[in-house]
Amino acid sequence: VCGAPSPMIAEIIAVGSELVTSPRIDTNSLFLTARLNELGIEVRRKSVVADNLDLLAAAIREAHQRAHVVALTGGLGPTEDDLTREAVAAAFGLSLERDAGAESRLRQWFAGRGVPMAASNLKQADRIAGAELLPNRKGTAAGQWLQVDGRIVVLLPGPPREIEVMILEQVVPRLRALAPPRHLVTRVLKIADRPESAVDEIAAPIYSRHANIATTILAGAGDIEFRFRCTAETESEAERCASAVAEEVAGAMGDAVYSRASEDLEAVVGRMLADRGETLATAESCTGGLVAERITAVPGASRYFLGGVVSYSDELKMRLLDVSADALRIHGAVSEPVAREMADGARRRSGATWAVSITGIAGPDGGTAEKPVGLVFIGLANPKATAVARRAFFGDRERIRRLAAQVALDGLRLALGNTPPFSPSDPRPATTRANEPAPGLASPGAGSESGIERVAP
Ligand code: ATP
Ligand code: MG
Repeated sequence: VCGAPSPMIAEIIAVGSELVTSPRIDTNSLFLTARLNELGIEVRRKSVVADNLDLLAAAIREAHQRAHVVALTGGLGPTEDDLTREAVAAAFGLSLERDAGAESRLRQWFAGRGVPMAASNLKQADRIAGAELLPNRKGTAAGQWLQVDGRIVVLLPGPPREIEVMILEQVVPRLRALAPPRHLVTRVLKIADRPESAVDEIAAPIYSRHANIATTILAGAGDIEFRFRCTAETESEAERCASAVAEEVAGAMGDAVYSRASEDLEAVVGRMLADRGETLATAESCTGGLVAERITAVPGASRYFLGGVVSYSDELKMRLLDVSADALRIHGAVSEPVAREMADGARRRSGATWAVSITGIAGPDGGTAEKPVGLVFIGLANPKATAVARRAFFGDRERIRRLAAQVALDGLRLALGNTPPFSPSDPRPATTRANEPAPGLASPGAGSESGIERVAP
């Protein structure tokens, strides 16, 4: 049982008209939330408010009624539209006082840089009555820390390089002294190539049984990340509680789980290849090198990745991968035989243990009734056999390309783990054909079936 008293609650208000218009986004709250969570403080609500005194004062009052800690970011600058100090003062009926120490530090800061100080800068030396100033090592806007009715209100500058230092050096130590000893542990599970709804249908009955687990699900193209967060009085208790749920969900998901940490799929595949001392080559058409890009994004990929071919044209499929003119003419470039020949050709030409191939119709044009947009063939070859999955993806060009790369990597992961490649979520199973043992090629790890079942040619 995950037993813990209710946590300290924080709200974050990001201040700035630039943050409610299109080009800018609030990222400070992400950094701040991560640090608060480490202290066992939960962020339940974030707001983004334009530079407007009344709107801001109202937002501050409301947040103060709901949360133990209200953190404001931005609006501490010298300009007319920087209103955070004024808004906090107005929200609680407090006055602003010019702080003599802050004023002299401000004058020194400008003098030290040989820059004349505008009169408007002086308002950065205004302190809310009762507040403590938080030094800013990276800029001119001091932060402020005050308690109103036993609750914390903290004012922080907007520029990320300023706020991050202030959070680490000023805010975290103060909150740590106030927050009860609470620890938040997050356990992550990552799942590839399964629909979000199907995954949650399995997981929800498990995590919803645990009262003190907060679950979030992040879904990308063929990629689902579960985050199970548990707060407890000790680290080990939080760890035990988050792990219990993660392990139970992982057990129910079986092979679909590719990481029990926050590893990327390409890192998992890379580690498996390196562990087995095996190598990989790629042959990509519609994904234009996405698989190779992801594989090489992992440091140390040179240990197992030999290289890849982006064979977009029929001509290069033939010249670089030995795809037969017959296969292209009879079945077309987007077909099971061509995917197979691409994978086989990439493996043979490179000498790699494994090769993956992708050929498909990413759209938006080029689809037919027989071969619609989203149809992708994914080949996976090793010295023993070559499997080809036929998948029908939905979505736009980018999503189809990302899904294809994801399924290719996940098929490789499954095969490396000695399970049949490609998830059963597609109604048409992968077709597998045995390969002639190729002399001189590295064979898969001893005793391994390499995950691709043997099928008589
Ligand atoms: P300054 O003295 O620079 O005016 P300030 O505290 O008034 O400091 P803002 O004017 O609100 O801060 O923001 C300064 C810059 O910091 C913005 O242009 C923006 O680039 C960045 N910034 C502000 N708020 C955020 C935020 N929530 N997330 C990320 N960046 C932010
Ligand atoms: Mg400003």
